[in-house]
Amino acid sequence: MESTAGRWWAPGRVNLIGEHTDYNDGYVLPMALPLGMTCTARARPDGAVRLRSRQAPAEVDTTTTALATAGWSEFPTWSRYPLGVIREFERRGHEVPGIDLDLDSTVPIGAGLSSSAALSCSVALALRDLFAPTITAIELIDITRTAENVYAGVPTGTLDQSAALLCTPGHLLFLDTRTAATEQIPFDLEAFALSLLVLDTGTPRQLVDGEYATRRTECAAAAAQLGVPSLRDIPYPSEVGRLPNPLLRRRARHVITENARVLQIAEQLRKRADPRRIGPVLTAGHESLRDDFEVSAPPLDTAVDAALAAGAHGARMTGAGFGGSVIALVDRDRAGAVSSSVREALTAKGFPPPRTFTVTPSAGAHRLD
Ligand code: ADP
Ligand code: MG
Repeated sequence: MESTAGRWWAPGRVNLIGEHTDYNDGYVLPMALPLGMTCTARARPDGAVRLRSRQAPAEVDTTTTALATAGWSEFPTWSRYPLGVIREFERRGHEVPGIDLDLDSTVPIGAGLSSSAALSCSVALALRDLFAPTITAIELIDITRTAENVYAGVPTGTLDQSAALLCTPGHLLFLDTRTAATEQIPFDLEAFALSLLVLDTGTPRQLVDGEYATRRTECAAAAAQLGVPSLRDIPYPSEVGRLPNPLLRRRARHVITENARVLQIAEQLRKRADPRRIGPVLTAGHESLRDDFEVSAPPLDTAVDAALAAGAHGARMTGAGFGGSVIALVDRDRAGAVSSSVREALTAKGFPPPRTFTVTPSAGAHRLD
């Protein structure tokens, strides 16, 4: 019997390393979180599209025809992610006869853990299973990224969508964003008595949109001046010396050294080395984001410093920056002490107390029932 309803899941993600590399054709290394979006979907035959999210106030009631013809300003911002996915299915020739979507997420919104990709990917998977079973994962990544870029107006690379769709339990996803080649890299924290903490500082990422766009422009300018298609093509940080502008030199150095850090960590973990050995590389990544790329923020630096002082093997901001979350790699029996130290350090400076999660590499998007 053909399936006309069900529930789908797509996770949030945390990027272990590889920040601001995805729009430079570089490498990233995310894992799926045990937090995610549950999308309850029901096909309809009448062209109607009805959406609601437990985390958003207004319901949206429209039609597939309206999506093809209407100006999108009438739709609340949050709904442009799922509506964008529906519209992209149709635009690519995968007819959506109508759908009801009921959304409910456990991913904190705007914390750098990709609640937006959890939203768009859960919907995309539901649409695939209900209406277009032959669509490939690559096309789903392209559809969900287009939903974010074009319909929601957020110029992301493919990191978030790839992580939500392709991650597997117990693994990091090594992704080459130039070729879309992927590799599942084992990340067994349990075996080494380690924990990965995610500390959501709860600070709004006020500057993120404008600054993100500026960083993209700066990276493109640096690549052009170095005579390469993208910064991915520069293997040695010393080559930034050819850039006359010191600001572009710093921006380029972050991307080049960050790509090297992803490769180094992937290499260590592939060999099943003790993940404690990657700690200093994580911390170096934070310093590079703070000093060269200048996308950190005082609460993030405070949290990283406090985690390291309390014995974390490595800590860094994760996500685009200017707020959001920090990750810390800690001995399992130190997890409580490190969380407490970070909370004390943040509140002592007048920042809100963080929300702390202990995360394990979890499953990517899938059908629940
Ligand atoms: P992040 O993806 O890091 O959490 P973004 O700013 O990229 O932050 O995406 C957050 C946006 O995604 C929200 O402002 C909202 O528009 C949408 N969103 C995410 N989760 C939900 C949800 N549960 N319900 C409705 N909209 C959501
Ligand atoms: Mg997002």
